[in-house]
Amino acid sequence: MIEALRRIVQEATAATDFPSALTIAATQIRDTLEVTACTIYLVDQKRRELVCGAGIGLTLVARGQVRRTDQPSLLEWIAERQDVLNLADAQQHPRYQNTLGTDEEICHAFLGVPLVQDHQTLGILVVRDTRICEFQTMEVDFLVSIAVPLAHLIHQATLDGVIHALLSGVRSLSGLPGAQGVAIGTITLPYRLADLDRVPNRSTSDPAAEEVALNTAISAVDEELRSANEQLLSLLPPSEQAMFSAHRLLLNSDSLRADINTRIHNGLWAPAAWRDAILARAQALQQTNNPYLNARAEDIRDLGRRVLRHLYTGATDSSRALPEHCVLLAEEISVADFATIPPDQLAAIVCLRGSALSHIAILARAIGIPAVMNLGDRPINGLAGHEIIVDGYQGRVFIDPDPAVRAEYQRLIAAETELAAGLDKLRDLPAEMLDGYRVPLYVKAGLLSDIPSASNCGADGVGLYRTEFAFMIRESFPSEEEQYAIYQQVLKAFAPKPVTIRTLDIGGDKPLPYYPIDENNPFLGWRGLRFTLDHPKIFLVQLRAMLRANADSKNLRVLFPMITTVEELDEALRLLTQAYRELEAEGTPAARPQVGAMIEVPSAAWQAAQLARRVDFLSVGTNDLTQYVLAVDRDNAQVARLYDHLHPALLKTIAHILAGGHQAGRPVQLSGEMASDPGAALLLLGMGADSLNASPASLPRVKWVIRRFARAQACALAEEALTLETTDQIRRLLNGALQQAGLGEIVHESI
Ligand code: PEP
Ligand code: MG
Repeated sequence: MIEALRRIVQEATAATDFPSALTIAATQIRDTLEVTACTIYLVDQKRRELVCGAGIGLTLVARGQVRRTDQPSLLEWIAERQDVLNLADAQQHPRYQNTLGTDEEICHAFLGVPLVQDHQTLGILVVRDTRICEFQTMEVDFLVSIAVPLAHLIHQATLDGVIHALLSGVRSLSGLPGAQGVAIGTITLPYRLADLDRVPNRSTSDPAAEEVALNTAISAVDEELRSANEQLLSLLPPSEQAMFSAHRLLLNSDSLRADINTRIHNGLWAPAAWRDAILARAQALQQTNNPYLNARAEDIRDLGRRVLRHLYTGATDSSRALPEHCVLLAEEISVADFATIPPDQLAAIVCLRGSALSHIAILARAIGIPAVMNLGDRPINGLAGHEIIVDGYQGRVFIDPDPAVRAEYQRLIAAETELAAGLDKLRDLPAEMLDGYRVPLYVKAGLLSDIPSASNCGADGVGLYRTEFAFMIRESFPSEEEQYAIYQQVLKAFAPKPVTIRTLDIGGDKPLPYYPIDENNPFLGWRGLRFTLDHPKIFLVQLRAMLRANADSKNLRVLFPMITTVEELDEALRLLTQAYRELEAEGTPAARPQVGAMIEVPSAAWQAAQLARRVDFLSVGTNDLTQYVLAVDRDNAQVARLYDHLHPALLKTIAHILAGGHQAGRPVQLSGEMASDPGAALLLLGMGADSLNASPASLPRVKWVIRRFARAQACALAEEALTLETTDQIRRLLNGALQQAGLGEIVHESI
């Protein structure tokens, strides 16, 4: 049965169109269960009708035939109750009616299963047979199992219908907020790249000309990459910058050139020679067991397509005329796509997949443009050139908006511009509440290139400097000297303000290319302190570099990530002391730092007081804490709607951490995206957070909110929030408070 299930799903999904997919599914279900008939009904939500989507086995069941809901039937019973109906003889049921013609009367046994997605009945799957007996458990299980992918298939088709309707009048689509802000622009699709697999084999009689053509194409792409990298230099994390350099290195590598020339001189025309050389390299990477290298194979193919397009058309990305305000829309957007639009023309990003934690959403936030993610799979090719409004607060877009909606959003954009100007003025003002309570407000960073923006945003210091990026862009673990140079630069840039540097937090979604870790559940695996404590040598090198960097500036705070037990913290502290003693014994200048423990997992949350007693401060990592308290993978778009830092359970966990830290007499800092969300930041202050740690882009907004409220107001808000039972109620409460303070227009519903 499992094999049959797999086959049916595979063949239905591969069908050329939706009606054929339903027919394939119905036929195969009937054949697998060896029954007389199988019918798939679809619910027409608007007309409240059941329409036959596909019917096999009963001559009078025709596609498109309708059953009306005003005639209660067995089908309506299933749709209403969203339950399975298994009858030995349907004709004996009081709701039985044969609206489809006499043919149905040959059947007695009846099994109907609702097709449900997102709590909505989208259709009903029915099998009928001439025997008079109930279907067996195995048959019911089979039908219930196939109902899941079938419902998904119908859901997708409904979405396609929506986009069709959208082009003829219905224009608003909802996804997930990716980056805050509002923009109006023109839909721009990423440049279509040529397909390597479709390059025909052709021979050449002029190898020299082929070589020149290929070299010209390679140089053009090399130049494209160089200028894109230059434009995005200050915006991209090093891992992405490294990608540009790696691509350029490959393009200019002698071995690649030699390979292509040999192929051309053996008689192949340039596109085929290029195809073979690229695919050979991609295949070699794909055959390794290393997930990092497997992913690089796709990068190489992408590069291959870029050069191929140039070979075919001579066109560069810069040669197409771009609208003044581009809204990049695609299923997925790579950093390379991102780089094809000049930053001053890129107004917003809209992605059919992904979530706020996707790479591209993080980049959008870094450069301060709105992004909407996860609009769902839908055809977009016909949308290029259409006007679009992107509302990154609500995760919503409006295509070809009507004038009233457009005017409303234009008003919002004007208000935002005004706010931005106002926020700029806040930079040098303290993060002080209306009653004079001063909130230490720190900024997050992870790259040396972050330093200028971080030091300019009016923060009281760095609350979290993530060290893993420096490890991720290298070919091997960075030496003590290399690390010392980086940490010293960061500490000096902010001295005398404090800088919290976190020890290596790799694992999870942050792999080291030169130390692949193969795990089934990376987020539950060898992460953060678990990894470094198992590699004391690597840990000691990092700690020594930090202590040395602190010798002059003395503003270092060391932070340990992913602590799960008290023993782990004790061991980390022991190694910190060992590193200091070693340096002292050598006579190397060093200074002891303040030390903090990150509370990111429930076990640490419930031992917050015990952990706090051992260190100078606690830092709550709300990104991971949300993930582990809610059991929602922070990087999985499928469950992104469940990942919400305003969940009541998370608030209660944070309240417990705050109480534990304070009971031990230690301050508790709040970190992660939650502290960058103005509404949540206000709530955290009311709950007793001693300091907040926001991203450079969101810091001014957080400061603005801090300056609009008194501490007592925040406390009252927190007290009420902690009595609420749902995330929505908490969000509404915060929005109401922000709106009353005059921030409603800007913060919208997503806060
Ligand atoms: C967190 O988990 O909230 C955090 C700050 O750490 P990271 O996002 O780097 O895991
Ligand atoms: Mg974390």
